[in-house]
Amino acid sequence: MDWDQIGQKITGLGRDVSDKVKETAEVARLRQRIRAEEEKLAGAYQAIGKLYYEKHDGEICEEYIPYFEHVGEACAAIEEFQGQLNELKKRKICPECGAAVEETSAFCSHCGHKMN
Ligand SMILES: [Zn+2]
Repeated sequence: MDWDQIGQKITGLGRDVSDKVKETAEVARLRQRIRAEEEKLAGAYQAIGKLYYEKHDGEICEEYIPYFEHVGEACAAIEEFQGQLNELKKRKICPECGAAVEETSAFCSHCGHKMN
């Protein structure tokens, strides 16, 4: 093997590496575009589902019933959690022990620390 051949071999390797890099970047770009389209798709499906739910509550095909039930349960749960959240917001946190204390309490119900 003479120096020219070695030089060609090295140049060839360099080209292989840069092709690989280009390919990897292209793969990443395409994956990202696919993910973006999949997100749009999920959003559209969600909107269709919501629209269907709002228009067809009480007159649904049997195969939709479990999903309608899930929606109803989730809405009830959200309302419940929202209520708990609102209750929590009315409380203050004891600086001594970190317990949630009613806003009107003068002392922490957990450790007895004087509340401001
Ligand atoms: Zn306390």
